[in-house]
Amino acid sequence: MKDFNYYNTLLVQNIGSKVGPVAPNIVPSAAFGYEDAQQAEGIFAGEVNSPLYARVGNPTNAKLESVVANMEGGFGAIATSSGMGAISMVTTAFLEAGDEVLCIGGFFGGTYTLITETMKRFGVSNSFCEVDDFSHIEAKLKSGVKMVLMESVGNPSLRLPDIKTIAEMCHVYETLLLMDNTATPLIVRPLELGVDIVVHSSTKNMSGHSAALGGVAIFRAVKEEGDKLLNEKYADLHKIVRKMGKKAFIPICKKRAIRDMGMTANAFGSFLTMLGLETLALRVERVNASVEEVAKLLYEKLPDGVRVNHPSLPSSPDHARYKLDFKQGCGPLLSLNCGTKERAFTLLNKLKLVTQTANIGDNRTLALHMTSTIYSDFDVQTRHFLGVDEGFIRVSIGLEDPEMIANDFLQAANEL
Ligand code: PLP
Repeated sequence: MKDFNYYNTLLVQNIGSKVGPVAPNIVPSAAFGYEDAQQAEGIFAGEVNSPLYARVGNPTNAKLESVVANMEGGFGAIATSSGMGAISMVTTAFLEAGDEVLCIGGFFGGTYTLITETMKRFGVSNSFCEVDDFSHIEAKLKSGVKMVLMESVGNPSLRLPDIKTIAEMCHVYETLLLMDNTATPLIVRPLELGVDIVVHSSTKNMSGHSAALGGVAIFRAVKEEGDKLLNEKYADLHKIVRKMGKKAFIPICKKRAIRDMGMTANAFGSFLTMLGLETLALRVERVNASVEEVAKLLYEKLPDGVRVNHPSLPSSPDHARYKLDFKQGCGPLLSLNCGTKERAFTLLNKLKLVTQTANIGDNRTLALHMTSTIYSDFDVQTRHFLGVDEGFIRVSIGLEDPEMIANDFLQAANEL
């Protein structure tokens, strides 16, 4: 496990330049002139590494991509317009009508609707299961699902998956595993645990300032022999894998999604994301310590009728896994349950320090009632699976004094 000092050094050293402009260059150009016709041909064939056109790549995005690939221990990365841009890029690049995707654990509402509505409309079927439903997972892998999708920490259910075991199962059945690591940059290392593709909403922890919408997908290298991408179920990708070798994940996403759908990052957003990344390790360390402290204070002091949930608390169903696999924390989220929507609204409206908004991983502490906002379109059964009910409030802890954060929730709860 790498410590936060390691990442503080890695990130500031990788982002800043020692010679010339220290901060990354913002290259806003949409088009790039080619030296000659031969160079243009080479760029389009993926043989010459120079910008083609901003929809498929840009030097500022390329800098962000190399920083994030390095940070995640990946071979390469693609920056996208948003976190949903990254997830939809990967799912549309690898899946086609007739395929099935298996979704494990809790999910952010946008990912849930992407799979259950949009991908379904294009003929991709799905099934969902709880984090520890290994018999369902094995049965689905055996039956030939094409991709497995999970979040490192369910947002907002706070369910924690056994990532290593699931990655090993996907390895045995040669099935692609995609993990959304938005909540846990640096503290969960999906590629080291056997995950194939990692995505982040960089809008969240990575940038931290609620100032830049963005996403990123990070890929492992393709193995020269015996790679799972060479399994028959990925036959439509074999030509590109054979041609592009180790880096094939990137042209697969560029040629089968970005080129045609354009979920590309913009240079200014990528620049802002890099400014955020310079302090990511400091913020992640601070926030993960604070969440535990706030959860403990709320657990001890909340009045009857309001419950706090966080995996660091012995009352959480995932406490044992938290202790074992999430030693540096599981991100900025905790949740409160007030019993009813009315009581949740009253508590939220009495908060003085906390901002009510639909974001997480911000420098500020944020809170949101779920069933009246992000989950308002979902039926009771779906809400139950995703871990929310009428009294549920999602909280994302920020950089403020943890005692002040806890006191804000306590003063509001005591007035219910
Ligand atoms: N993944 C997770 C876990 C999220 O919380 C979110 C947004 O809240 C997203 C993906 C989508 O990211 P974006 O809003 O940048 O599209």
